[in-house]
Amino acid sequence: MSPVPADLATGNLPTGDADVDALIGREVRRRQSTVQLLASETEPTVGVRAAMASVFDAKYAEGMPGSRYHGGCEVADDLEELAIARAGELFGAEYVNVQPLSGSAANLAVYSAFAQPGDPVLALKLEHGGHQTHGSRANFSGRWFSPLHYEVRREDELIDYDQVRDLALVHRPRILVAGAASYARPFDYPLLRQIADEAECILWVDAAHLAGVVAAGLLPSPVPYADVVTLSTNKVIRGPRGGIILAREQHREALRKAVFPFVQGGPSMHTIAAKAVACAESRTVGFAGYVRSSIDNARALGAELAARGVRVVSGGTDLHLAVIDVSALGISGAQAQYRLRAAGIVVDKAVLPFDTQPVTVGSAIRIGTPVATERGLTPELAPALADAMIGAMSTSEHAAHDRIRREITDVACG
Ligand SMILES: *Cc1c(COP(=O)(O)O)cnc(C)c1O
Repeated sequence: MSPVPADLATGNLPTGDADVDALIGREVRRRQSTVQLLASETEPTVGVRAAMASVFDAKYAEGMPGSRYHGGCEVADDLEELAIARAGELFGAEYVNVQPLSGSAANLAVYSAFAQPGDPVLALKLEHGGHQTHGSRANFSGRWFSPLHYEVRREDELIDYDQVRDLALVHRPRILVAGAASYARPFDYPLLRQIADEAECILWVDAAHLAGVVAAGLLPSPVPYADVVTLSTNKVIRGPRGGIILAREQHREALRKAVFPFVQGGPSMHTIAAKAVACAESRTVGFAGYVRSSIDNARALGAELAARGVRVVSGGTDLHLAVIDVSALGISGAQAQYRLRAAGIVVDKAVLPFDTQPVTVGSAIRIGTPVATERGLTPELAPALADAMIGAMSTSEHAAHDRIRREITDVACG
């Protein structure tokens, strides 16, 4: 098996295991030789990776700083306090929990803290941009709770807040959920707060995708309006794979107990170290520039694609991601994903609001720009990338895909 060339193995120490090293090398090459347009991914920084590889991986520290179930936690206590302080400052939150192992685990903790099995919970429908942890039947949230879903309006594909209010007042959910995986517009937090107050329910904002944009100061923060906010630290915020919960002081005890011992065991202290690094890095000018450029690139690419005959859902984007209706090309979202991959461009298939295709096929793709932006994508390159994408989606010819791949990876792979 061939060793990983040093220049491709950026930031990877050899494991000494030939099989695993070969796979790491292949993955590095795959990432570097394709245009990465996945909305959920970023390249963790060297600092984040170093923290992830640190000795803190070895530490058991069940409990909270100052009250642990294990000995020898004095340094882990200081580390977790540092991460809490940094996240609290970054987002202006009263209560911070940095222990959730992922965004989904943070979400499970929120349900555990505020709802009982069977309670109604109101969230954006999955097909309209929501997330599986917001009441999908395939997930605990749809199986153990009673999901209710609001939608976007057909005419402008923006959230129908009248419907949100009607559903909230009629069904009295325990929790009103805002936040989405594939909705490229900001939420109206003041209005959602008002609805939650009228319906006397908890307002939870799942800011998985939004957190990095908020940290960069480019969108209003949900923290002043929400009872609780969850986020994934591995999305735009460019940290390790994990979650954070932010909340009002009054919810401290409920959330602490929900994360541990209800949902999780020992926290992942090396990930907490990496979260501390990412929170500090998110306060730099460089970070804000990277997020701003990611949004500029998503807007430019969306506009260039639209100029070539496909449709951007809701007419555009305010984020680093966009949902593109590819049905005008006579293909499904799954076919578009496959053809683009053949041409070296990696996207997610997606569903449209009111899609006629099943969820596993869809009529759309979701694009995201953070990784491509870090690797040099600019709005000036968007026309060439849009040409390549439309070209790749419009043909099933291998030769055409090969040609497009050679051309576009030269331009857009840094
Ligand atoms: C990505 C995402 C999550 C889940 O995050 P994981 O860290 O992958 O568990 C939750 N909610 C929304 C809206 C997301 O986009």
